Amino acid sequence: MKFGGALMNNASNINKVAGIINEYNCEPLVVVVSAFDKTTNHLEKLAELSKDDSSLPDEFFKVKKYHLRAAQQIMPTFPPGLDAELDNIFYDLWEALTIGYSNRYKRYDAIVTFGEELSSCIMYYYLKQQGLIINLVSSKNLIVTNSNFTDASVNWQYTSKTITSRVIPILQNKQIVLTQGFTGADEGGNSTTLGREGSDFTAAIFANVLNADEVTIWKNVPGLMNADPKRFADAKKIDAISYHEAIELAYYGASVIHPKTIQPLKQKNIPLFVRPYYDTSLSPTVITDDVSNDLANSSIIVKDNQILLSISTMNLSFIGEGNLMQIFGIFSKNKIHINLMQNSAVSFSVCFNEDLIKLNALTEELKGTFVLRYNTGLQLVTIRNYNDKLLEEIIGSRKVYLFQKSRTNVQFLIK
Ligand code: ASP
Ligand code: MG
Repeated sequence: MKFGGALMNNASNINKVAGIINEYNCEPLVVVVSAFDKTTNHLEKLAELSKDDSSLPDEFFKVKKYHLRAAQQIMPTFPPGLDAELDNIFYDLWEALTIGYSNRYKRYDAIVTFGEELSSCIMYYYLKQQGLIINLVSSKNLIVTNSNFTDASVNWQYTSKTITSRVIPILQNKQIVLTQGFTGADEGGNSTTLGREGSDFTAAIFANVLNADEVTIWKNVPGLMNADPKRFADAKKIDAISYHEAIELAYYGASVIHPKTIQPLKQKNIPLFVRPYYDTSLSPTVITDDVSNDLANSSIIVKDNQILLSISTMNLSFIGEGNLMQIFGIFSKNKIHINLMQNSAVSFSVCFNEDLIKLNALTEELKGTFVLRYNTGLQLVTIRNYNDKLLEEIIGSRKVYLFQKSRTNVQFLIK
């Protein structure tokens, strides 16, 4: 089972999460938790502050206070050990914040992984207090990755070995295994992360190695939805879809599951259930290899804060494969993921998530060779299994900056 931060955002919801673990405490069980609420965002901001920034102590204390308060709310009397454990974590976090890292991304991972460190520690003591027999195992000792900080790749061979040797004995001992989502470590023991919202993927890694019967991702929505209910009042829950369709939706940005989650489950044919934590009587979305319902759903995925960058040659010569190779190299080096691209004779247009620091680094490198123009504040809309009526409804009178259509998908950038 995996629980995201959005479910662990206040005492009463954390209590519900504990209730679910209690109620669905099958054997054997692995529980993966994310950081509480918006902690990862908060830590991201902390990671951007330099070690000499005068606001660093204040921001650090905000994170500390938030977690101490959450822990006190669910455990008015602290169980023995918790106080010291939290002290250690805060000490280590402060150290990570004030050490000089030469690599910005390494620093980022060293800092943001504390969100899961804190949430798992508090959940461990809380679940134990609730009478569950539980064992907290650090994902940094289990998930072995390469050193591609912020978006590390799993070394499956080592990870299988560590999970098999460290987790299976605990499960055989009839204890619940609790671990942190999103985080791992490289072979040198440096903290790494699997990409934002990567805790789902962590659950899938465990499931794959352990040959789990099933994985459940508990959500604060009814299941996998065909659109974001906050944007589309008539969004519907999808009852069943195939792994393939789920990968496509996640890839285009449906925020319900992390895109990397499905492949390890598909490989072992492990069903994935996405279900609401606030009402366990509702039926989940079931994701398996059954494709029979795939065409029944049109899905709309909207990504805000998109940049459209047009890259042209200086002398209006054609954009050729050589130019593209150079451009892709610069994107990859700056860890910018391209959401949509299109080329014409003399220009190459790319759309990606707004990140001003990355945009600056990118333009610095491109501007010597290319002419750049960009638009910000755009929305990228993807409609899967589209129809013309839906398309018209969404575009309305808005200005379209880029448009692409295939048999099953339409994607466009609008303002
Ligand atoms: N806490 C991490 C994040 O917010 C991982 C996750 O939530 O899955 O990105
Ligand atoms: Mg999260």
